[in-house]
Amino acid sequence: MLDINKVRADFPILSRTVNGKPLVYFDNGATSQKPQFVIDAISKYYQEINANIHRGVHTLSQLATDAYEISRGKLQNHINAKYAHEVIFTSGTTHGINAVANGFASLLKTGDEVLVSALEHHSNIVPWQMLCEKTGATLKVIPMDENGELIMAEYDKLLSDKTKIVTVNHISNALGTVNPIKYMIDKAHEFGAAILIDGAQAVPHLKPDVQALDCDFYVFSGHKMCGPTGVGILYGKEDWLNKLPPYQGGGEMIKEVTFEKTTYADLPHKFEAGTPDVAGGIVLGTAVDYMNSIGFDNIQQQELELLEYATKRLLEIEGLKIYGTAKEKTSVVSFNIEGIHPYDIGTIVDKLGIAVRTGHHCAQPIMNYFNIPGTIRASFSFYNTKEEIDVMVEAVKKAQLMLA
Ligand code: PMP
Repeated sequence: MLDINKVRADFPILSRTVNGKPLVYFDNGATSQKPQFVIDAISKYYQEINANIHRGVHTLSQLATDAYEISRGKLQNHINAKYAHEVIFTSGTTHGINAVANGFASLLKTGDEVLVSALEHHSNIVPWQMLCEKTGATLKVIPMDENGELIMAEYDKLLSDKTKIVTVNHISNALGTVNPIKYMIDKAHEFGAAILIDGAQAVPHLKPDVQALDCDFYVFSGHKMCGPTGVGILYGKEDWLNKLPPYQGGGEMIKEVTFEKTTYADLPHKFEAGTPDVAGGIVLGTAVDYMNSIGFDNIQQQELELLEYATKRLLEIEGLKIYGTAKEKTSVVSFNIEGIHPYDIGTIVDKLGIAVRTGHHCAQPIMNYFNIPGTIRASFSFYNTKEEIDVMVEAVKKAQLMLA
């Protein structure tokens, strides 16, 4: 059981006001807030050990390199990767997906198929479209139903020997649906296809076990799990990472360079060209420590209560419709009020200090499916409270009165 006041005290931003009102931050799906523990670790890095990594013999460079590699180890443990070199530091989910999609360009040909789901964020659609354009492969879409659940019978039908890679999010950012990824991974493998899981919205809520899942790739961003922006993880099975060509060329990723030929460094460096976000990489490990100190059981219990409470309270509002009613979902409520544009509600509630997201949430195909321009999305974190949900519900009611 969380001591919510103690947890909230860890996050300095939660005590600020916005437009003269106490901040109610319900845009956690876009990015989480950062605890003082993480903020302090960023300053400590720059105050005490800032140096470039993997190249200096001097003490600071070695201290920074050690801290960076210790953090990689923390991430390896966190997701239960078999080897530390399967954990690649990236700039975020988008970077990880692009690295894999780009690598597959060397493996695909006309007639091959790439399966994406109808529930994807644009960053898990566009790189695959670019890959298909480049290679002549065909993009196929696993459809969803009106609850926002992927239709597994259709997935089964789409899979064939032509399928080379399947890509799906663990949890949908727009609707909160938890996808049946274990089933999807096993099915993809029956057909010899690789599978990438976009875990951007999963890692704030759970600890993925990549070995138990047996996925080929798992990508996520640090900033949605109490870490800094600009850093993320691409996990890939060793065999796959060895098979794929590097995404970027440059310093750090080479074994030997001559004008005739360059050989690449071993994993993980082959995928880590250039100076990385050293502070970000180190502090992502700090963020993981913080989340584990809260405990994922506690996180899930608090967020489930918030989801149930928010769903019940919002449905008291006449004309309000919730999109995404999957049996398994995380603490995201995406909704609209009949006859009112989501942007107008978002603007009014912002004046009352409440941060919700309005729009298509980088998932236009989902909005097209429901035939709406967008939704209002409230996404809760473990540091949110039922009292904050009451404040939002009253604000939405006020906005409805003003706009009706
Ligand atoms: N996939 C999903 C499901 C997301 O929610 C997001 C971020 N909203 C991304 C990918 C992209 O993450 P980033 O912008 O951190 O690269």
